[in-house]
Amino acid sequence: MTPTHRSGPDRRGILRGAVIASGTAALGGALSAVGATNASARTTDTNVSTQAAKPYLYWRGAWGARPPSSPIQVLATPPRYIVVHHTATPNSTDYSLDHALRLSRSIQNHHMDTNGWSDTGQQLTISRGGHVMEGRDRTPESIAAGHHVVGAHVANNNSTCIGIENEGLYTSVGPTGALTDSLVTTLAWLCSAYGLNPHGAILGHRDFNATACPGNVLYSMLPELRDRVARTMRARGIAPAARQEPGEDGPTYPPVPEDEPDHEFYHGPARGPDDFTR
Ligand SMILES: [Zn+2]
Repeated sequence: MTPTHRSGPDRRGILRGAVIASGTAALGGALSAVGATNASARTTDTNVSTQAAKPYLYWRGAWGARPPSSPIQVLATPPRYIVVHHTATPNSTDYSLDHALRLSRSIQNHHMDTNGWSDTGQQLTISRGGHVMEGRDRTPESIAAGHHVVGAHVANNNSTCIGIENEGLYTSVGPTGALTDSLVTTLAWLCSAYGLNPHGAILGHRDFNATACPGNVLYSMLPELRDRVARTMRARGIAPAARQEPGEDGPTYPPVPEDEPDHEFYHGPARGPDDFTR
């Protein structure tokens, strides 16, 4: 049995990203509605290469997510930036799916029980084995609709930034090839769905808040990742959107602090006075 079957037919289980965008009738009314969105209209080419541009996504049902403690806020506008984080958890050598799903649960528990947030803070999570998981509730359908689930991962900028937490700590070593490949695929999916230019939209947490996140090594990889994302999009027949100049909501590039708190799951300020959700 493949992992696809573990969570049964529940639409909150596991779903290929390609299916989210194409909204096949087999998935029922809820996702048919998602399929008839702007995001899917941009990528109506249903050839195999286009579908392969989207990651295999494990939905909340797959990792046993708790329901949010208060309603999730969804903006009818796309995010302007995609923020790359590390999780500040060990650089595990367990690359299994089970480990990845446990990681999602442990992050959610920390965010809800220790931080007091309504749900897990980030919209997407990638394990060192390259498994990509839904984070905050309602994320996949919002991406497909061109909408933005407001998370808690980048202080004072949560209304304009979607966040990807990448398992590990990348202050002195880089991520696995599997994680890097899935990150490129995920970034290409988001840039395509939201009409974002990879070179303008893909940033690190430290570009907005005083933190070392996503670590010196992963941060130094961002230029190469942006190039790979743009190439991936073009290879799928998707022209990257024109680059937009950052407005007042753009990155401020604060200095990296020398005495950042060092504990598991903490990777910089995630909420601030300008954020209206938790
Ligand atoms: Zn971070």
